Formats: sequence, C-alpha cells, structure tokens
Amino acid sequence: MRIGGLERFSMADYDNHLAATVFTQGCNFRCPYCHNPELVDAHRFEPPIPEDEVLDFLASRRGLLEGVCISGGEPTLHDDLPSFCRRLKAMGYRVKLDTNGTNPDMLALLIHERLVDYIAMDYKAPLAKYRAMVRMRVDTEAIRRSVKLLRDTGIDHELRTTWFDLLLEPADVLAIQEEIAGCRRFTLQRCRPDNTLEDLEQLRLHPRTGVEEAVEMMKKEGVSVGVR
Ligand code: SF4
Repeated sequence: MRIGGLERFSMADYDNHLAATVFTQGCNFRCPYCHNPELVDAHRFEPPIPEDEVLDFLASRRGLLEGVCISGGEPTLHDDLPSFCRRLKAMGYRVKLDTNGTNPDMLALLIHERLVDYIAMDYKAPLAKYRAMVRMRVDTEAIRRSVKLLRDTGIDHELRTTWFDLLLEPADVLAIQEEIAGCRRFTLQRCRPDNTLEDLEQLRLHPRTGVEEAVEMMKKEGVSVGVR
C-alpha cells in the first residue's frame, strides 16, 4: 500500500483500544473540509513510508498495542489492502477500517475473510447531495451497497457525517438517518476548519453554524443525533 503516515500510538482512533494508525495516500473524493489534504492532493504527498517499515514497527509492538486503525485518504483504493490486513491479523491485531464506502466489493471481501473487526464509514450527505459534497463523480449505488453490507453482515460498525453547514441543513440529517436505517451507530462529526483541502476562509465556506447549534435545531424538528 502507499502509506503516507503512521501514528504510532493513539487512544482516539479506535474506541476503547490502544492502537496505531496507518494513513494511506490517495482519495477518490475531494471533500472541501477534508483535514488530511496531504493524503488527498497528490501535489502535497510526502514520499511514502515503506510498508515493511510499518509492519516491522507493528511486529515490535505486539502485546503493547491492541489494534491498528487503517485510515486515509481512502484505504480501499489499494488492491493490496487485504494482504496488508492479513499480515496484521497474523500478528494478532484487531483491525479497524475507516472508509468512504465507495468500494463495497473490497468491503465484502474484508468482512467475509474476517480481515477487519470494525468499519467506520463516512456518509457524506443524503445521496442526492453526494456529488456536490464530495466534488467528484460518485456511484451512489456503491454507497448504498456498502451501507447494506454493514447492516446485514453483522460486522461492528458506525456511520458518521461531518457537519458542513454550507451544504447540509438539519432536514438532511433526517434524510441521512432514513437512508441508513438499521445501521448500528450514527454520529455527527465536528468540521475542523484548519488545514483543510480547500481554503474555507478564502472561499467563504467557513462554517456558520456550530454542530451543537445544529443539534439543537434538529431536536426542534424531532431529530435526535449524537456528536463526536
Ligand atoms: S474527507 Fe475523507 S473522503 Fe473526503 S477527501 Fe478527505 S480523505 Fe477523502
């Protein structure tokens, strides 16, 4: 895999597990609020970290770390993701995958071969607004299939939406909840406006409504949602 970053120890990326986080390079979306632009914009890529170096580090931390979170960028763009996960599993690690849900075939393989223990999928917007949000062509049927896999296979999972109020409004959160009905967990994430893919300030795209204010507005419309 093209690995653009390694966080050697994290308490935040894999709930309740001491974990390292591996960041892959490259993404098929261009969310303006993306806070990992150096993993998305090829002009900002650093030379990749050799995969063997990462695996050697993880081998040396067996028994100290419980899990590995694979994040990005979009990890499922990398055909060798399953073989990377197999090596982590052979070391006894729990594996969490962060994904944008555009590759349900890869997710199906990872789930059926038990190569991942937890999947956190970004659900960017109601499907009708996806293209405007991610600024790329998007196969919404693939997104639907990924949600169905999470819902139907029993894999532990969560879905999350970044609250980006220039394109979302409270009614959209209700639409999202309807589209992902039956999934286990859904949260709204805060938009972190610093170091984003687009210069939100320059584009006057900086958020006007904080997530707490949005949640209050949603409550008045009968929509209940958690925040992280
Ligand atoms: S937020 Fe995620 S899906 Fe969107 S561009 Fe960044 S890495 Fe890709």
